[in-house]
Amino acid sequence: MRDPRFDILFQPVRIGPVVARNRFYQAPHCNGMGNLRPQAHAAMRGIKAEGGWAVVNTEHCSVHPSGDLMPEVLQMLWDDGDIPPLALMVEAVHEHGSLAGVQLAYPAYYNANRMTREVPLGPMDRPVSGHHPVQVRAMDKSDIKALLGWWKAAAQRARKAGFDILNVDGNFSTIAFQFISPRNQRADEYGGSLKNRVRLLKELIEATREGGGDACAVSVRLIIDELFGPEGLRAADEGIEAIGLLAELPDLWDLVVGTWADDSPTSRFASENDHEPFMTGIKGVTTKPVVGVGRFTSPDTMASLIRRGVLDMIGAARPSIADPFLPKKIEEGRYEDIRECIGCNICVSSHFAMTNLRCTQNPTMGEEWRRGWHPERIPTRSSDASVLVVGGGPAGLECARALGQRGYQVTLAERQSRLGGRVTREGELPGLREWLRVRDWRVTQIDKLPNIGVYLESDLGLADVLEFDADEVVLATGSQWRADGVGRAAFKPLPLSASVPVFTPDDIMGGNIPSGRIIVYDDDHYYMGAVIAEKLALMGKNVTLVTPAADISSFTINTLENIRTATRLYERGVGMVTHMALTGTHEGQALFIDARTGATNHRETDALVLVTARLPRNELFEALTARLDKGDAGRLRRVSRIGDCEAPAAIYAAVYSGHRFAQEFENGDPTLRRERINLAT
Ligand code: ADP
Ligand code: SF4
Repeated sequence: MRDPRFDILFQPVRIGPVVARNRFYQAPHCNGMGNLRPQAHAAMRGIKAEGGWAVVNTEHCSVHPSGDLMPEVLQMLWDDGDIPPLALMVEAVHEHGSLAGVQLAYPAYYNANRMTREVPLGPMDRPVSGHHPVQVRAMDKSDIKALLGWWKAAAQRARKAGFDILNVDGNFSTIAFQFISPRNQRADEYGGSLKNRVRLLKELIEATREGGGDACAVSVRLIIDELFGPEGLRAADEGIEAIGLLAELPDLWDLVVGTWADDSPTSRFASENDHEPFMTGIKGVTTKPVVGVGRFTSPDTMASLIRRGVLDMIGAARPSIADPFLPKKIEEGRYEDIRECIGCNICVSSHFAMTNLRCTQNPTMGEEWRRGWHPERIPTRSSDASVLVVGGGPAGLECARALGQRGYQVTLAERQSRLGGRVTREGELPGLREWLRVRDWRVTQIDKLPNIGVYLESDLGLADVLEFDADEVVLATGSQWRADGVGRAAFKPLPLSASVPVFTPDDIMGGNIPSGRIIVYDDDHYYMGAVIAEKLALMGKNVTLVTPAADISSFTINTLENIRTATRLYERGVGMVTHMALTGTHEGQALFIDARTGATNHRETDALVLVTARLPRNELFEALTARLDKGDAGRLRRVSRIGDCEAPAAIYAAVYSGHRFAQEFENGDPTLRRERINLAT
């Protein structure tokens, strides 16, 4: 049963002409499906509604071809042909009694209009971001008038699609906000004083109201603080004042902070509810409901924010991705079942990859339509087969859990005294503590299933596995870091001299720490090189991070972390060198070649930490396969590999791999539906 202190979260909230059945608001979020994959998009949003989110929003929905962000996969309402894909989503959301919201948007400075080739418009003549050789044209009065017309027409289409809430997007990348920012240097009545700078947002709200009619609510998503110092909009002065100027005009305020990287920081850099300091005082200037975000997963934090009058609705994008059923679980008092977001931003990376949303914690995310997966339900078992899963890292844990949920008799054997594999080890590294949630949620679920037996300190060899006599064996034995330099830049082991001792992340995580001057060589390009460097720096070591890439932790551009990563390393005193590929070591020196020019280079060092690539631990797989080939494996009918022991990758891939095995086990031919362009219609 639910604790009464959380009842407050289930009170209805009036939003203009509509009523949200509770206080859970799925904030707009990108998903890589959008307008290109509308059935997948609708299914994903429908599951959010099923999971109890009273309001389910789209992502950025462009109102006109001159606001074109393609090839990013988003939404658009440029003409009536864009209505049916969105109507599909509205239908899926309404089916579960939730309100559907659309985020009407027009970008500024972020769109080179690569698809439509329209001239981008904005407050001022300025280059667009992303180093495209294109400039924005400063809008004149006739452009503003045209924009208001496009906006109203898009609002009318949104109403035709069935949306209940029409949101005026004033995010960082949008025209509404770029006019409000003090960086807007216009000299007419749309620039200068704050009253002038909010004029466009006011007119956009009015245009939305006209287009949407009486039945639709109008909300505003606005940056309350630009996090740009004195040159930007700051919550404490003009941020709150801007809301005060338009206080009662929209039916709801949805407030965010800074750029996307500021609004969705990873858990390495920010904790839950990090926006609260910016929200203080908002409720004093408007009587309309206020929504805020902050990677909320704790019902206590949520209830406290409502009770203290900071927010009226709990906005969430990532927590709703990691657990679409978060509201239902709180409603039913099943708090320990909440699959808490770990704040890794792999979900964000799928937007940049322009493909179906994926999530480290929730392997079903983005797979609802194309594979028919559901975050809470799974087909029941088709036989009495027994399954032995070897290895209790993220892949093995998820595989055992999901097979157990299907009803199979599962045994999970782990060599170590603790479950979690790499997550348990990596969770001790600086900033990665919340990643332990990957392990903890699965262990909690496994503990509830009597048909899963867990054996720790069980280092299984060939004879043990055969003796176990399972019908199926799934190996999730993981991987280990290479110590020979092979990685993206080197195909062959490098000539490494004994004069420079070599370490790997496994050594550092195991407590084998180098001394003296240390080079951390990062040819992996995700988080590991930087967090190892950070850990060593925190131990007082002299550390330089060297990478052949053009950027530090270059993949983390996709998780919105790369600037913060470089800043943190700088603050910890870690030297940073880019474009240098390691060629070997010799007499106390690390030897490099400039990845651009081919010029050679060297650095004196006392130790080298190689963060390059991993080798799958698959000896057991090879031994078992050989026995199966010989027909000498007893009752065992098949051995499979999942996760890093098949091919090392990020944690989300290991979880997905384990889940996929369990979903597809004895379940016929797997589906991977695709949405095709139908030329016949
Ligand atoms: P993944 O990310 O694929 O889940 P991990 O490296 O996190 O991989 O986890 C692999 C787990 O498998 C580790 O906890 C490791 O101790 C365990 N393991 C490896 N080989 C064996 C074995 N032969 N018997 C039992 N456990 C094993
Ligand atoms: Fe949270 Fe990571 Fe999932 Fe995104 S991918 S929702 S940050 S757990």
